[in-house]
Order: sequence, then structure tokens, then C-alpha cells
Amino acid sequence: MLRAVEVRALVAVLSLLCILQPLQAQEAKPKQPSPEEALKRLKEGNSRFVADMLAERNLGRNRRAELAKGQAPFAIILGCADSRVAPELLFDQGLGDLFVVRVAGNVTDPAILASIEYAVEHFHSPLIVVLGHESCGAVKAALAGGELHGNLATLIKEVKVGENLPMEEAAKFEAAIKNNARYHADRLRKQSPLISDFAAAGRVRIIAGTYSLKTGAVEWLETPKKK
Ligand SMILES: [Zn+2]
Repeated sequence: MLRAVEVRALVAVLSLLCILQPLQAQEAKPKQPSPEEALKRLKEGNSRFVADMLAERNLGRNRRAELAKGQAPFAIILGCADSRVAPELLFDQGLGDLFVVRVAGNVTDPAILASIEYAVEHFHSPLIVVLGHESCGAVKAALAGGELHGNLATLIKEVKVGENLPMEEAAKFEAAIKNNARYHADRLRKQSPLISDFAAAGRVRIIAGTYSLKTGAVEWLETPKKK
């Protein structure tokens, strides 16, 4: 028979084990690729998409059961909500590969920054892509100006089309889309000390790109290096 004091000690040890086990499980993360390797995987996936040569994907029950144990997305995509710009499809990736945040105009706000910070901190995803796209309605609305009301007005205010835009309409639209993607890529670093620290340490790379609706290709844009 165990004495009360022994029972209490046993309970204490068991409780400690219960606490430690999930912590250890959390730390046992799969290794992430380097930022360069992650970007290469996206570029290769997009090339397959453009060439209509998609890779075979395992979306079946075995893969789902494997992913139920945990995720380690190798890239974070901040993209537009536009139905034609689905990151998993256009980068030809599978379940659990990409951590995707979508909002019209691919803008940043505290909730979006926090979502991205979560993936950087907890999954150590080595790459963040801010993906604008051809014919973006949010950018078009920002260029048009005019009176907007309610939530839409708040959103469009966050779309940054830039200055000194070309006069010609198509060139102006294209430049505004690129400027907005670059602006929000830069803002990830400026508005988030966590992302900025990871970027400074070379643990995460931030890059902007734009997607062509017609060709399916992503054009990669240079972003300002540091603030
Ligand atoms: Zn859009």
C-alpha cells in the first residue's frame, strides 16, 4: 500500500511528465529548408503550373493522418483573396506545404502580421512571399480614388499604389500592383520586430511577386533590403 505522501509524490511526477511531453513534442519539428531552397521549390512549382505539368499529389487519408500530427509549411504566402490567385495551385504545392494568408489587395494589418509572425516563430517557415496579381480589383479601386464607405474604405486605404506612376493606364495599373506588393513586403519587416529579427538573422527571407492571370507565371520583385 502506498502512503499518502508517496501518492502525492507520484501524482506530482506524473503531472510533470504530462506537461513536459507536449513541450518536447512541440520542439521536435521537421527540418526546414533554407530560404533559397524554399524559393527554388516555389519557382519550380510555378514552372510546372505554367507548363500544365502538375506534380502528382498525395491528398489522401495517409497524408492527412500524417499532417494531423503537426505542420511545417516551408513558405508563407500573403496573397489577394481573388479566386483566380490560389497559392497552393499556382505554386503546385500540396496540403501542409504553404501557410497562406489571403485578403483583398494583399495588405498588412495587425491581424495579418500576427498570423505571419505565428508561422515564422512556431513553424520556422524560412520564406515569406507577398503576392500581388494582374487586374487586382483592390488596387484598381485605390487608383480610382473616389468616395468609399465602411469596411471597404478602411481596406482600400491600406492599398499603397506608390507615387510618380506612368500616365498610360495599363502601365500605371501594373506599376501600382508592384508598388503595393513591395510596400507590404517592406512593411512586414518594419511593423514586426519578430519578423525583422528573423530576417536580420537570415532565418527568413521576404520577397514580393506578382502573378499573371493569363500566363500563370509569377514575376519576382526586388524589395528594399533593410529600413
Ligand atoms: Zn486582388
